[in-house]
Amino acid sequence: PLGLASIADNGTLRTADGSPVLLAINVNAPNEVDAVNAATTAGIGLMRSEFALTSLGDAANEEKQFVIYRRLLDWADGRSTTIRMLDVGGDKPLAGLAEAPSLRGIRLLLARPEIARVQARALLRAAVFGNLHIMLPMVMFPSDVDDVRQIYREEAGELARRAVPHRIPPIGMMVEVPAAALMLDEFESADFFSFGTNDLAQYLVASPREDADFAHYQVKAVPAVLRLLTQAIKLAGSKPVSICGDMAGDPSLTAKLLAAGIRHFSVAPAQLPAIRSAIVGLRADGTKAAGE
Ligand code: PEP
Ligand code: MG
Repeated sequence: PLGLASIADNGTLRTADGSPVLLAINVNAPNEVDAVNAATTAGIGLMRSEFALTSLGDAANEEKQFVIYRRLLDWADGRSTTIRMLDVGGDKPLAGLAEAPSLRGIRLLLARPEIARVQARALLRAAVFGNLHIMLPMVMFPSDVDDVRQIYREEAGELARRAVPHRIPPIGMMVEVPAAALMLDEFESADFFSFGTNDLAQYLVASPREDADFAHYQVKAVPAVLRLLTQAIKLAGSKPVSICGDMAGDPSLTAKLLAAGIRHFSVAPAQLPAIRSAIVGLRADGTKAAGE
């Protein structure tokens, strides 16, 4: 077990040869943070807002959303807090909303902008209270990010007219659709990237992630996902890159992810200890430290 002394108070770890690595948590139900000491993390790398907003009524409720987001920012106490906009549709249905299976993630947000606008206002207001980052799900094309940015600009204008305190935080995107991963250098209006290896893997092997009979296909696809990640990180240039898919929480893959260039991991809280000790026992190039 790793003493708290080896974790800086912003949650930055160091590899065995001294490279800083950030280790943040993924949050599904908002109350999951109650069991985690924020000071042992680099904040929240992925909050799946679809776990907090389980009906169309929630998605229309700005005040309820504002309270949830503010609570997460309070928990994080200044640490980076990345909240992903609603990722519903497809394998993630939203009660009260019946849409075609392909209308999911960002596509659904843009097709039903009234849903996106409520969430945008709640996030713009919450952003005043902490280090918020907004993340967009299932982005395919640069125009997706531009279109959502326009919504944020318009809603910020509306809040300003009403003298409601607000702030436009950085807006980044999930990299979980292969077409986006291959073209990352084209996404000028995204402020940061986070790899969603769960969806990347399923789309790379053309086998749905919820199909248990073919779960071994996702495992077999790991080398392909790693190669795609390595290429995409180069295309990302100087923009911040992280990983929040399940591969980030698998200690048997930490060496390969470091070697691919990942320096920011976001994992389920239960995986924190395993990934923490994996990182400090490896050099930044993924090789094992002497004595390990
Ligand atoms: C992913 O696709 O890897 C991801 C983190 O998003 P989700 O698991 O919520 O689809
Ligand atoms: Mg996903």
